Amino acid sequence: MKTKILGCCGRYIQGYGELERLQKHIGWMGDRYLCVASKNRLRDLKDIITNSMEGKEVVFHQFDGECSFAAIDEIRGIVEENGSQAIIGVGGGKVADTVKVVAHQCGLPLVIVPTIAATDAYTSAASLIYRDDGTVEDVQNFPHSPDVVLADTKVLVKGPARFFAAGMGDALSTFVGGSVCVDNNFDNHFGGLGTVTGYHVAKLSYDLLFKYGRQAYLAAQNHVVTDAYNIITEVNILMSGMGFENTGSSLDHLFYFGTLGLPGREEKVVHGEGVAFSVCCMLVLQGASNEQLDAVYRFNRDVGLPITFEDMGLEYLTDEELDMMSNNVLKEAFVVHHPYDVTFEMIRSAYIAADKIGKMYHEGGSLL
Ligand SMILES: [Zn+2]
Repeated sequence: MKTKILGCCGRYIQGYGELERLQKHIGWMGDRYLCVASKNRLRDLKDIITNSMEGKEVVFHQFDGECSFAAIDEIRGIVEENGSQAIIGVGGGKVADTVKVVAHQCGLPLVIVPTIAATDAYTSAASLIYRDDGTVEDVQNFPHSPDVVLADTKVLVKGPARFFAAGMGDALSTFVGGSVCVDNNFDNHFGGLGTVTGYHVAKLSYDLLFKYGRQAYLAAQNHVVTDAYNIITEVNILMSGMGFENTGSSLDHLFYFGTLGLPGREEKVVHGEGVAFSVCCMLVLQGASNEQLDAVYRFNRDVGLPITFEDMGLEYLTDEELDMMSNNVLKEAFVVHHPYDVTFEMIRSAYIAADKIGKMYHEGGSLL
């Protein structure tokens, strides 16, 4: 039997106003902290953090938007200068990715405070490092995940509902992609097989999306915290991150990645939105049942996630563009995480059929 590996963040804390109790949760890490956040998050949250960390020294550093080697080196310099004993990253995926690298390089405990529930990067043990032009320069994997992830719903609920929905789109891919890896003994992101625990976290996240996703989205649109909102916040931040790393990735993101970098087309969707459409394409390629496709298409449509090329901002696609997208998918590493060889024709056909099904759902039609 091959090795099975499970990894997750050291402690996950979620609650309303939890940032006001930050010291209670992380005070054991030391007396001197470096807090990294964007300009707007510093404006909104600096006082709360300063008050809650009373008696401790907290140095604040403004993050300027890109997880680059230059930003990492700069922050490491500040850590060394101040003798920081722990790092707190407050913000979205880019802040999280940046402080994960610095904490690993300096061997310090790490706290992540997500301010939008749009990505599952917060709990993971990996970072994407970008060049100044926005292309990926490096992917780094770390021996362990962040020590504490603190999700304050009082902060999160102020964010745009569109990002909350995007988080659900990213979460939707976790079980769809991960179950292919588990069923076929492909490696997870830790280089081992998925555990039963990892598989069931992924499955649970998928089921909870259909059970509570729509009402959670309504709560997010109205900036109120309800039970459903709490459940989907946990799905988006904890279960989706834990689920994808511990089960593995297959074609679930690839149809989205295939659309990136088309000449003359600007990207109109955020990560989780593109992934939601990619899941539709993957399910079509896999020959998913009408029942499953119906559930996924209705869900995406109801929470404003893309189900057609037009929703993706890809109106009037040319044959050349479709060919390019299909070839892009074939170049992705995880394309081999499928039970049989995936061909150009299969990918191209899935793109076209997925878009047509989406159009049918927009016009009130149904596969059932
Ligand atoms: Zn993703």
